[in-house]
Amino acid sequence: MPILLKGSCHCGAVRFEVESHTPAPYQLCYCSICRKQQGGGGYAINLAAIHATLNVEGQENLGVYRARIHDDEHATGETSSGERNFCRQCGSALWLYDPKWPELIHPFASAIDSDLPVPLEHTHLMLKYRSGWVEPDIAPQDRAFDIYPAESIADWHKRTGMWVD
Ligand SMILES: [Zn+2]
Repeated sequence: MPILLKGSCHCGAVRFEVESHTPAPYQLCYCSICRKQQGGGGYAINLAAIHATLNVEGQENLGVYRARIHDDEHATGETSSGERNFCRQCGSALWLYDPKWPELIHPFASAIDSDLPVPLEHTHLMLKYRSGWVEPDIAPQDRAFDIYPAESIADWHKRTGMWVD
């Protein structure tokens, strides 16, 4: 059985539940969007969960932000297909949904109230876009990438034995 993740914004206007096979908070994204939107340490931690199981209370308080990206990978400027859902009352970032991968949502670990498993290794990504003051804490067993890793969140969980069946 997948694990049930319960999450909420800070003020409680939005609460959600979603099931996940992949609950380990191992993936640290240093991109400019994650950092600005909710990355107090210079990165955000993205989980993956099963979109079809998402239940939201307080839907009317949700806002959706679609970032305009203009960087080396998007030289002409482009609006991200990713829909970053946040609470319009308190500003907490909650999850990302991208219609390119409609079966998944990516809750931010920071919005989850349930206990999460502690990962034995981390993946650091988008390091090319980290802010100068951020000193990534990359352990010997960690993997680090300028842009994206080839390994999916599902594959990481299967390789490390953290996949929840
Ligand atoms: Zn709120």
